[in-house]
Amino acid sequence: MRIDICNLSKAFDSAGRALNGIDMSIADGELVALLGPSGSGKTTLLRAIAGLETPDSGEILFDGENVASRDVRDRNVGFVFQSYALFKTMTVQENVGFGLSVRPRATRPPKAEIAARARELLRLVQLDGLEDRTPAQLSGGQRQRVALARALAIDPGVLLLDEPFGALDAKVRKELRGWLRDLHDRTGHTTVFVTHDQEEALELADRVAVINRGRLEQIATPAELYGAPATPFICEFLGSVNAFDVTAEGGRALWRGHALPLPAPCPAGAARLFVRAHELAALRPGSAQPGIPGSVEGVRLSGSHVRLDIRAAWGGPLLEAEVPILDFDSHPWKRGDAAVAAILAFRAF
Ligand code: ADP
Ligand code: MG
Repeated sequence: MRIDICNLSKAFDSAGRALNGIDMSIADGELVALLGPSGSGKTTLLRAIAGLETPDSGEILFDGENVASRDVRDRNVGFVFQSYALFKTMTVQENVGFGLSVRPRATRPPKAEIAARARELLRLVQLDGLEDRTPAQLSGGQRQRVALARALAIDPGVLLLDEPFGALDAKVRKELRGWLRDLHDRTGHTTVFVTHDQEEALELADRVAVINRGRLEQIATPAELYGAPATPFICEFLGSVNAFDVTAEGGRALWRGHALPLPAPCPAGAARLFVRAHELAALRPGSAQPGIPGSVEGVRLSGSHVRLDIRAAWGGPLLEAEVPILDFDSHPWKRGDAAVAAILAFRAF
């Protein structure tokens, strides 16, 4: 199912707006992540799509049809909440079959059919054999998969997930991430997925919608978002970035009273330059490439990279540079080493 959201706004009180003129379209079968900090309006938007929240203005279309007058139950959406909200006294199989068992008599499948459908879905989420357990007898990751199977049982046109892995530990989160992507590719449901974790959004989604203070900052593929962020907020939100507030004149950018060595001309006027940690090279003093003189104040291992905190001699906040672990192994840095931070690439706003 295709979803079009047109100029959607919602305010809970006079203090501020939860959603402010949201426009976006989600293609049939697409997996879109809503990414933003806590309180930015992600849950409100998801609930509005589900019909659990009434917008003040704007429209939501499912396959071109305005669904304003359609009740939650008639929108054919599967919803998975942050706290899985399983029924504690029901077995796993009864939980999964619940949505079908409460249908009006006319559309309710026979008991045996509901049970068969529940077992089929439990196989899909790799929980076959656990049909007769209660939620208390499952791990957090298993419970979340039951919640997903329950949402899928009604064969929804849209699957809506609100921080579904938020309550789980990092390792299980990662596993379920790959697993959800795989499930989506097999079932092909249009899926909207809320998260505040940029890594989760970029790894999982076909496109990511970045929400900030109730506004849509950008909706784009992970590669586009990373390569061409539309706003300073996105630059900072996507992580590990250095910001330089400069005034540029005659091609020279002045930062803290010094000409900042840049790999390309900077547009004239006042600007904020963003340089990602991997776009800032740490060089030994005396190398041919110009940069910002300073010294190493911190060395942190971060997976396949080493993060260096560099204190610039010109003052300002600590700079963060990323060194690939292989380079680090052949030429290790340590606290107190003199270093030159060379800007390899930047984005100006
Ligand atoms: P997110 O899911 O991105 O953390 P929410 O959509 O839950 O953000 O909330 C967006 C804003 O709307 C917040 O400022 C929040 O306090 C407010 N809000 C959300 N739900 C309600 C409500 N039921 N009543 C009043 N304010 C609300
Ligand atoms: Mg939320």
